[in-house]
Amino acid sequence: MTAPIPILMYHQVDAPPPKGTPMRGLVVSPAAFARQMAMLRALGFTGMSMQHLLPYLTGQKKGRVFGITFDDGYENNLRCALPVLQRFGFSSTCYVVADRVGQCNDWDRERGVPQVPLMTAAQMQAWVDAGQEIGSHTLTHQDLPKLDLAQQRHEIADARLVLEALVRQPGGVRNFCYPYGGFDQGAVSCAREAGYDTATTTVRGRVNSCSNGDLLTLPRVLISRTTTCIHLALKCLSRYEDRRGPGLSSA
Ligand SMILES: [Zn+2]
Repeated sequence: MTAPIPILMYHQVDAPPPKGTPMRGLVVSPAAFARQMAMLRALGFTGMSMQHLLPYLTGQKKGRVFGITFDDGYENNLRCALPVLQRFGFSSTCYVVADRVGQCNDWDRERGVPQVPLMTAAQMQAWVDAGQEIGSHTLTHQDLPKLDLAQQRHEIADARLVLEALVRQPGGVRNFCYPYGGFDQGAVSCAREAGYDTATTTVRGRVNSCSNGDLLTLPRVLISRTTTCIHLALKCLSRYEDRRGPGLSSA
C-alpha cells in the first residue's frame, strides 16, 4: 500500500492582521510558508498543483508528493507565495471565485473579516504563466448545500466557463473546490457534470489512492497561522489523523 497523499489547504499568505481580527488564523506569514515548503522538500516531498497531482491520486504514478492549494484567489498568493513556490520548483492550485475576480472577499464581510484584494485576470494569467494552476471556487462563494440544484449547477458549471474566458490555461479549468467545504449529492453530481477532474473539501485527512468517484470529495490538511513545522510533518507523515472523508474508500 502506498502512503496517503496530503493536500495542503492554504488561504492567505501575507503578514498577519492585528490580534483579534476575525479569521486571522487563516493568514500564514510568507516566512512560515517558506519554512513549511523547505521542511517538506527536506523530507523528500515535491509539492504539486491538483492537475499535476492527479496521476498520483489515481495510483498511475508513485512518488513522495503533496498537493498545494490556496482557496479564494487572494492577490497575496501571487505576491507572497509564488516566489517561494518558484524557489522550490513546486506548482500549486489557486481556487478562484469567478464573479469576484479583481474584487474583494465580500462573502466574509458580514463576519468582520478584513477585505483584501483578489487576483485580477492579468494576475491570474501571470500565476498560470509562472507554472501555477487556476482552479474554480464557484461564481460567488455560496454554501452550496443551501442552494437548489439549478443554482448549484449555475455556481459550479458557469464558474468554469467564466474562468476559462478570463485565463489561458492549457487544458482549461479542470479542478474545483467547494466553498466553506460544503457539499451534498447535488453539488458532487454538478461537479461531475461540469467535467471537473477533482474537487476538494475541508474534510480533514490525507488521500488514499482512490477510485474516480472519490476524486470529487477529496479531504485536505488545513494549514493555519499557528501550524508549526513539527505539526505539519506529523500531519503529513504520521499514520494517525488519517480520518477519511465521506465516500473515500481505502486503497
Ligand atoms: Zn473559500
